Amino acid sequence: MADYQLFIDGAFTDAASGETFATYNPGTGQKLADLPKAGRDDAIRAIEAARKAFDEGPWPKMSGAERAAKLRRIVELINQHSAELAELEALDSGGTILKAQMADVPGAVSAFEWFARMAEERPDRVDLEGSPFPVSQNYIRYEPIGVCTGIIPWNFPLIMAAWKIAPALAAGNTSVLKPASLTSLSALKLAQIIAEADLPPGVVNILAGPGGTVGEELASNPLVDKTAFTGSTEVGRRIMQLASGTVKAVTLELGGKSANIVLDDADLDLAAAGVLWGTFFHGGQVCESGTRALVQRGIYDEFISLLVEKANNIVVGDQMEMTTNIGPLVSRGQVETVERYVKLGRDEVGEPLCGGGAPDNLPDHLDKGAFYRPTIFADVDNKAKIAQEEIFGPVLCVIPFDTDDEAVAIANDSIYGLAGGVQSGNIERAEAVAARMRTGTVWINDYHLISPERPFGGYKQSGIGRELGTQGYDIYRQVKHVHINPETSGRDNHFHYGVLGV
Ligand code: NAD
Repeated sequence: MADYQLFIDGAFTDAASGETFATYNPGTGQKLADLPKAGRDDAIRAIEAARKAFDEGPWPKMSGAERAAKLRRIVELINQHSAELAELEALDSGGTILKAQMADVPGAVSAFEWFARMAEERPDRVDLEGSPFPVSQNYIRYEPIGVCTGIIPWNFPLIMAAWKIAPALAAGNTSVLKPASLTSLSALKLAQIIAEADLPPGVVNILAGPGGTVGEELASNPLVDKTAFTGSTEVGRRIMQLASGTVKAVTLELGGKSANIVLDDADLDLAAAGVLWGTFFHGGQVCESGTRALVQRGIYDEFISLLVEKANNIVVGDQMEMTTNIGPLVSRGQVETVERYVKLGRDEVGEPLCGGGAPDNLPDHLDKGAFYRPTIFADVDNKAKIAQEEIFGPVLCVIPFDTDDEAVAIANDSIYGLAGGVQSGNIERAEAVAARMRTGTVWINDYHLISPERPFGGYKQSGIGRELGTQGYDIYRQVKHVHINPETSGRDNHFHYGVLGV
């Protein structure tokens, strides 16, 4: 019997097949819980419930203020359960408890708060001045899109769930969410919280289950109007294909290989800390991680020494200890991926300057854990596979450059365009570089700061559309142009009918 249940049509239920799957702590290898394994039937039932809630239920017809009140109730309940949510998130994902307390739970809260504000503040009708047509009035109505499905990855499970559910609900849509199989716990806990907030049945549905069945159904079912996907570029391409069958709206937040450019006028100590923070936070399992550090030649040697010295001080260990800087990666499978790339790096580039394996001083209870040390390769050619492919682990490639033009060219020489950084003592110079980077976010003298109040998303193969910000709200709304010809009889303002001779 499962320890958690699926949330479909306002009720908690086992998978139709009765199947379950286990989820583990990647630090200790211990089983955390048995979860219901949804299948295609469950996905269809959830989509049908969301369809009915949208077509017949009160949610899309409620005012923005009424919906905002419900989202704020969810915020209250998340805050009440914050300690438990943080613990589940850290245990299940391997992210540190500090990250869970400082980023994951507050990040989910701020997403619901921001989109509650959007529901209240963004107008759902805008009257247009004048008209290009003969005597008429025109206005725009912003309307919900319908049934919105969300498919999310394993790196920030709770925040990702909030980023999919909150904007969909705020704009009057109904939602079906599927978390990644490795990290479904916090989403199933969120389902319990949302149930307590007493939304109409079917407005939110949450299913744990495999991407190949549940995920494919969420992206292809004709009753779905929009699919929002966060995950790898490879699966993103598949989502586009699946959604194309019924021309669904899609937003895609995909992979990255972001460049963090260190100019020769940077404060080296600050920039080295910025590069390490930008790469190794959460073990590098962040889509916008600055995993390519582009360092100007005049400061190159000194900068590399600083990087390595500081990297060796990063504490890798039990994610539940407050003194740990990086916990385990999400799974042994992810460690194997990293090991494959580090081997490739050894062949392509040579020995890494630090890392290149698990820490050797782990206590016994962590000896089966998915741990990997921060690993730095220097003098990497940007054409090398380890500089071009997303590793999604704690591996940094350092690449030298001579001029700002060359830095921009190297940064942009990637299929990805999610984010990037510029570390410099001269803001004007840094802004000139930032303007030429083909990415959805650039941090100057900073990294990783993302807020629901600012748009986030990728250029090129890092995605389509923007989440968060006002843009991330509007992308959950249809735009309807209403044209009124005030002439209710007579033909003075209808001369164009004459083209047809009628
Ligand atoms: P993934 O693409 O393997 O899986 C993501 C989700 O898609 C999971 O829920 C999975 O079950 C589901 N899925 C898998 N195959 C599917 C299919 N055929 N049809 C429908 N759904 C399917 O990604 P992951 O390994 O969970 O996460 C890591 C990836 O996510 C990295 O590439 C990372 O860059 C990316 N990511 C991007 C962002 C962003 O905002 N751009 C944020 C976080 C992670």
